[in-house]
This record gives sequence, C-alpha cells and structure tokens, in this order.
Amino acid sequence: MSALVLFGGTFDPVHYGHLYVARDVRAALGVPELRLVPSGDPAHRRPPGATASDRLAMLELAVREFTGLVPDPIEILRNGPSYTVVTLESLRRQRPGVPLAWVVGADAFLGLPRWHRWRRLLELAHIVVIERPGVAFDAELRTSAQAELAALWDARGTDDVGVLGARPSGAIIRVAAGRYPISATIVRRLLAEDPASPQLAQLLPPAVLAYIQNHSLYRTLPDAP
Ligand code: ATP
Repeated sequence: MSALVLFGGTFDPVHYGHLYVARDVRAALGVPELRLVPSGDPAHRRPPGATASDRLAMLELAVREFTGLVPDPIEILRNGPSYTVVTLESLRRQRPGVPLAWVVGADAFLGLPRWHRWRRLLELAHIVVIERPGVAFDAELRTSAQAELAALWDARGTDDVGVLGARPSGAIIRVAAGRYPISATIVRRLLAEDPASPQLAQLLPPAVLAYIQNHSLYRTLPDAP
C-alpha cells in the first residue's frame, strides 16, 4: 500500500517505547515504511534537553536495529515552530490523493485540542492512536472537558486498519500495539541520577546510550522546576 505513515515526537531521547510501538504499528498497518519525525521546535512543550541535530542523530542510530523505520527530518529542516498541521499540509501538496497517517500515543491524542489548527488535521490525514500504559484512554475521552474530541471519535473512530488505504484522510484508527511503559522523562531522570545504571539497557538502544555518553547529554534534569 502506498500510504505514508508518520510518527511525530520530540524523541528527547528516542527510546524503546517509541521504537517498539513504531515496529508494531508498521506491522499492524501492513506498510513497508514508517517515518519517525522529530520536531525541530516543539511549540507546545518546554525546550528539549538535546538539540534537534542530536535528537536526529540518535534516531538515525536507533533505527538501525529495526526494519522499515526511517527518520524524516522534515520538521528540523523547516524554519519556525514544528506544527504538525504545517507538516501535513506540505506533505499533502506533494502527494495529492495518497493516504497520509499521523501516529500518536493515547496521551498525545487526548491533548489534540491544544494543537495548532487541530480541526484541520483530519482533512489532511488519518490519525492513528496507540494505547499507552498509564493512560485511561476511554475514561479520559469521556470527561466533559473532552466533549468535542469524544464526538469526533464517535464520528470518525474505527478499529479497522483497512480504512487507511481506502481513502486519503479523515479516520481515527485505533491500533493495538504492545504496552511498553517507557517515557523519555523516565530515561532523562535515570541518565541524570544514575548514568551507569544497568536499567538503561532495557530502555534504549546501546548505540543511543553510547551517543548520549559520548556527547555528555542529559547530565542534569531539564524537568527540574
Ligand atoms: P516525554 O516523557 O518527554 O513527554 P515521551 O516519552 O512521551 O516524552 P515523545 O517524543 O514526547 O516521548 O512522544 C512522541 C509520541 O510517542 C507521542 O505521540 C507519545 O504519545 C508516543 N509515545 C512515547 N512513548 C510511548 C510509549 N511507551 N507507548 C506508546 N506511545 C508512546
């Protein structure tokens, strides 16, 4: 299938949660390639602990362990804030009629109404939602604050991955990936507190860990108030 599937994130740093989810989603959707899109200047959150070029370099090392995962620097090469809607508009101009899909974890999907021009996203692409450990997706979607998102889910939501290839955009496709309780926050904390911890080998690829150590990244906690 010729769908273009993209998984955006800060990847600060990339970890096995991202990579295993990406591997599972690629398999579930039956696509030959899934692109990992690091944000250059994430508009909606605090500045990353590593530069865009370091985050891209770590992604390039990480995907060597995986078939069909490809870093895409589109948001790093572009000037200005890394709004997903701008990325999708540019990809849509290049590929009229081709199915596009933007992959998000359940936590990111629940935050969608805070994204720049978020209502436009489904005109441009499908959204693929992945369950995430620790996120009570159904319960949180049904809170009163999420009424508009819940209505959108009711109108556009599906568990049928076949929808991806059937039309170019407009569906919210829930995909069951494995559950990997890893976050970049946990990784950064461990790197700052105990950089020699053997636990790190379970959380991110050895080549990424070596890069972090060689470039002295994440020595302090960017999350500290
Ligand atoms: P942080 O802890 O700094 O917030 P993160 O681990 O959530 O980072 P991001 O780069 O912000 O990583 O996430 C990019 C995307 O990957 C988001 O859509 C997020 O929901 C998803 N994601 C990250 N980790 C997982 C995971 N373990 N399982 C499922 N989805 C994940």
